[in-house]
Amino acid sequence: MDELSTPTRRRLLHVLGGTLLVGLAGCAGDDPQYEDLQGPVPDEYQTATSQGETERSAGNLQSKAGVNYHDAQGAATCENCIPYICDKNDDGLGACSLVEGYIEPNAWCTIYARHTG
Ligand code: SF4
Repeated sequence: MDELSTPTRRRLLHVLGGTLLVGLAGCAGDDPQYEDLQGPVPDEYQTATSQGETERSAGNLQSKAGVNYHDAQGAATCENCIPYICDKNDDGLGACSLVEGYIEPNAWCTIYARHTG
């Protein structure tokens, strides 16, 4: 019987592996920015004006799934997009005049429009 196949060693490796997985899951679940992305935006964003001067209308927003919202893969990001509404409460997140919910500055979606101003 080799060293790693002893019941005690296998049990120890099993416990350590489980602890590592729980620890990693805990990191993702405790990220306040991730949790904040699930809820409605604060009042100051509800009818805020985007950096392209378009007013956000809560009843006229597209779903994130509908515009394939996800992490940006290049230089085109929400932060330099016309509908982006910049962070107003120092939590590192903004909003969008066209898409629902909190918006990460380093995300992207299919209706991206480069802001040059
Ligand atoms: S890339 Fe999409 S979600 Fe991001 S600011 Fe532009 S329109 Fe809004």
